[in-house]
Amino acid sequence: MIEIKDLHKSYKTGANSLHVLKGINFNVKEGELVSIMGSSGSGKSTLLNILGMLDEADEGSYTLDGTPIKNLNEKIAAKYRNKFLGFIFQSFNLISYKNAMDNVALPLYYQKLPRREREERAMHYLEKVGLADWADHLPNQLSGGQKQRVAIARALASDPKVLLADEPTGALDTKTSYEVMDLIQGINEEGRTILVVTHEPDIAQMTKRIVNLKDGRIIDDTLVDQVKALSHV
Ligand code: ADP
Ligand code: MG
Repeated sequence: MIEIKDLHKSYKTGANSLHVLKGINFNVKEGELVSIMGSSGSGKSTLLNILGMLDEADEGSYTLDGTPIKNLNEKIAAKYRNKFLGFIFQSFNLISYKNAMDNVALPLYYQKLPRREREERAMHYLEKVGLADWADHLPNQLSGGQKQRVAIARALASDPKVLLADEPTGALDTKTSYEVMDLIQGINEEGRTILVVTHEPDIAQMTKRIVNLKDGRIIDDTLVDQVKALSHV
């Protein structure tokens, strides 16, 4: 599903250049649930943004479901983002004046789906995340965990092949974090490929594979011992 080879990325600020990704190689197969772990500043978000086509690498190659992602014009890039990628962020990024249903339906509006289909799909995914009864609530009437569930429903609404989550539990308490990760595990079990960026080892343990990033390089890439992971619950 995802193939990256020798990826490099630097940020230039004025005369200075900060080399953030220093030759990243990794592949993710369809249906995997992978965490990208590392301390703050190690380049996790930079890597995820490149995978999400929100940013481009300086060097190296990125192939998404067989398509090389390079120098695409914005229209084609947007089409790929819609078709392939769903995003979940630490801060939820919901629109404050739209209710849960309309937040979930919004990407479908941009994809020009008819209203009826938008509403049906939005309701379907709200049900999936356990929030059918909260469809007409505004974000500020929802708890943090509920907001993240709405954001997950929104990410799923366009039925993307890959979900990319940047610190999805970063703003949640421990119990709610585990609930959100349970939901993410369930979505993965249906076959969807999911990448979760986190700096929390306990959250990473709830995925199936942990890729450890340090100072812009992968220092470790291991499968989670599922028996051991279960025994922590
Ligand atoms: P992480 O998500 O692991 O905390 P990031 O990928 O956000 O790390 O950042 C890696 C490094 O790149 C940090 O030192 C950060 O300050 C720097 N950085 C991130 N984004 C930018 C940017 N847009 N411009 C300049 N520097 C940036
Ligand atoms: Mg980050």
